Amino acid sequence: MSDIDVLVLGAGAAGLFCAGVAARRGLRVMVLDHSPDPGEKIRISGGGRCNFTNVDAGLPERYQSSDRGFARHALRAYPPAEFIALVRAHRIAFHEKHRGQLFCDGPATQIVAMLRAQADAGGVRWRLGCTAGTIETLADDPVGARFRVETAAGAVRCASLVVATGGLSIPKIGATDIGHRIARRFGHRVVEPRPALVPLTFAPEQWAPWSGLAGVSQAVGIRCPAAPDSPAFLEDLLFTHRGLSGPAVLQASTFWRPGEPLEIDLAPDTEGMDLLGWLRGNREHTRGQLATVLAQRLPKRVVAQWLNDLARSHPRFTPQARLAELGNRDLQALADALRRWTLAPTGSEGWRKAEVTVGGVATAELDPRSLQSRRQPGLHFIGEVVDVTGWLGGYNFQWAWASGHGAGRAASGLRG
Ligand SMILES: Cc1cc2nc3c(=O)[nH]c(=O)nc-3n(C[C@H](O)[C@H](O)[C@H](O)COP(=O)(O)OP(=O)(O)OC[C@H]3O[C@@H](n4cnc5c(N)ncnc54)[C@H](O)[C@@H]3O)c2cc1C
Repeated sequence: MSDIDVLVLGAGAAGLFCAGVAARRGLRVMVLDHSPDPGEKIRISGGGRCNFTNVDAGLPERYQSSDRGFARHALRAYPPAEFIALVRAHRIAFHEKHRGQLFCDGPATQIVAMLRAQADAGGVRWRLGCTAGTIETLADDPVGARFRVETAAGAVRCASLVVATGGLSIPKIGATDIGHRIARRFGHRVVEPRPALVPLTFAPEQWAPWSGLAGVSQAVGIRCPAAPDSPAFLEDLLFTHRGLSGPAVLQASTFWRPGEPLEIDLAPDTEGMDLLGWLRGNREHTRGQLATVLAQRLPKRVVAQWLNDLARSHPRFTPQARLAELGNRDLQALADALRRWTLAPTGSEGWRKAEVTVGGVATAELDPRSLQSRRQPGLHFIGEVVDVTGWLGGYNFQWAWASGHGAGRAASGLRG
């Protein structure tokens, strides 16, 4: 039997960070993970370069949750600038990519090594490659232990139990639903988990005409019209053999539910170029075919297939149609069709390919600063196991750091 102050279940981004924060407060901390290697998702993240935060990751509206304001408190207490300063202090070189995304110049394992070094500096004890068993609550313990946790390497008693076991994506590197099961066991509600930041797919017969575009990418606007909280993203869309991917669709997938449509703007006004005005201008000055004119703004192969598809409902809009022969109402209809290409994916690539989980432990019964359960003192839930999901681009790691920081600061120890 080991007596410690804090037991952290899960040596991923949130658990490693939390352990370091709590241990450097002088608490005796143990981290348990069934995987022999900590931080496996960090290792594979950002294409191996770990997009460890985003300069805008302090904005609560960039996080999806049943309670949109919940993440604000932890993010305010531990903003991106703090993690950036830590990365600098460890002399890890990084660069800014697209839209505030910060990536390591070198391998993502540098971030894992940094987190381990932080934890080791506080004397964290490791139980890696070790499974956790039953969790018992203790009442009136003389030294203030609140939990007794059976593990494959012997029982542990602790005052604080931090559940940092992540979401369900990528089961092949260790994701399980243990965190959701622990939450339910303590009476917490779990918002139904769904794969997110994931490519979306179509029925093979529905997608057959489009599958030849696999590999083609273009900038689009995208939103999920059925989801009232879906923002409009302006990102790149990628055609695949089975459906749609690229940052645009990954972002939208967080808000999408099976059976619902996606609305894609194929010709967004990226340079203040109003689509209808542009079509009218072309009608005046060129005698070109519709396909040729549209290919100035969209990839040629997309234009050809999209017009073929559109011609089934709007017979005037064939690839060969001459723009000069279209009236104002036609041009308006064409602009509307380009602006609101609506299609309904039938599924997603699922947990195997999803970067994150939407849903998880409901926030209503968690304190937003300490991430402590309002039902069971000493029990904390942090990181992706909680019903908070960030946008693509470093937001999910910032949530892991910020929530880990909140619990690490608040965790309490045994008496004496
Ligand atoms: C391919 C990929 C790329 C990504 N890239 C980025 C990126 O660049 N930027 C970004 O912000 N986010 C990225 N993410 C998301 C990010 O990795 C996660 O949001 C983040 O790791 C969540 O941290 P966490 O600590 O909550 O969970 P995790 O990091 O998943 O850690 C959970 C830990 O719990 C352990 N565990 C699970 N079940 C058990 C059990 N039964 N017993 C014991 N231990 C258990 C796991 O082994 C794991 O070590 C990416 C995700 C994937 C899959």
